[in-house]
Amino acid sequence: MTTMTSTRLADGRELIYFDSAPDAAKRRRDTAPSDGRQLDPRGGGTGEARFDVLTGEWVAVAAHRQNRTHLPPADECPLCPSDGVRQTEIPSGYEVAVFENRFPSFGPQLGALPAPDDAPAVRAPAYGRCEVISFTEDHVGSFGSLPFERVRTVVDAWAQRTEALSAMTGVQQVFCFENRGAEIGVTLHHPHGQIYAYPFIAPRSAGMAKLARRHYLRSGGLETLTSSALAAERTDGERMIVEGNHFSAYVPFAARWPLEIHLVPHRQVPDIAALTGEERDELAELYPQLLRRLDNLYNSPTPYIAAWHQAPVAHDFRPSGHLHLQLTSPRRAEDKLKYLAGSEAAMGAFINDTAPEDTAARLRAADTA
Ligand SMILES: [Zn+2]
Repeated sequence: MTTMTSTRLADGRELIYFDSAPDAAKRRRDTAPSDGRQLDPRGGGTGEARFDVLTGEWVAVAAHRQNRTHLPPADECPLCPSDGVRQTEIPSGYEVAVFENRFPSFGPQLGALPAPDDAPAVRAPAYGRCEVISFTEDHVGSFGSLPFERVRTVVDAWAQRTEALSAMTGVQQVFCFENRGAEIGVTLHHPHGQIYAYPFIAPRSAGMAKLARRHYLRSGGLETLTSSALAAERTDGERMIVEGNHFSAYVPFAARWPLEIHLVPHRQVPDIAALTGEERDELAELYPQLLRRLDNLYNSPTPYIAAWHQAPVAHDFRPSGHLHLQLTSPRRAEDKLKYLAGSEAAMGAFINDTAPEDTAARLRAADTA
């Protein structure tokens, strides 16, 4: 049973603790740790959303983020809990903590973006919200090495945040993700992820949501596109990594990345919030196992992006939307990374130098211990 306690940081940002220990919330109430720092009050709107007429996509311009904390030494980490000597972003010891990003790409203002048209230079405040989720108070380690109970609390935290952010004014999509590894631009080593509440449907999600809806309607509401892809992978079998009671994982038929895994619930659910307790339990087992498989491929930890594809908030896309995790890594050899160059970065046309079937075989063989 996860309990949730919401409080405020010195500059007004929200901080939420998620605890599994039954007395944790009470102990924190009794000791009442609070943020004693002198922080400047937050500005109203920090970034801007600009509409790109050529692609029909919104772009967030967040020049203020240039000054954010970048790979601080362990004794300056903002995610380690405050102690007698140093005050950080999190005043109390904790299991899982979520707080509003001090350097957000979206927010803190909430609102609806204007309906874009072909007029050039349509701009608005970058409405929305960006949150940081710290998976543990321990500075070292990784998500894959967290114990089951902790992962289970993180799943509940993702679910609660997805539900709460989806209900906020103007929010059209909630994206939970983790970037791991300095190689792909991580700015803090402490195990953590992020949660974005976008004021639009992200470009890739918009395309996927339309395809998913078309497939769902054609099937007479009997089948989602994701479940049909999952069924095809399970029948074929060659790219499967693991099959559970509620979730299965495979390397997709048309994988774009040297390492790519999809983890999919068997039952159609639009987002993490809709998972049952039993499904969350299995997710908390299987997901860290997949991360450990990635790490066991090479002699050093593999950088990855773990991206939860959740259905947009709009009702039209909920029945056809089917939650899944897309886990990707640009690592193509012990000391080689794939870079997004001309074809991928400019055209969006991916070229994968690795056969998905070979990747699946290697991941199946990778010990999960
Ligand atoms: Zn830390």
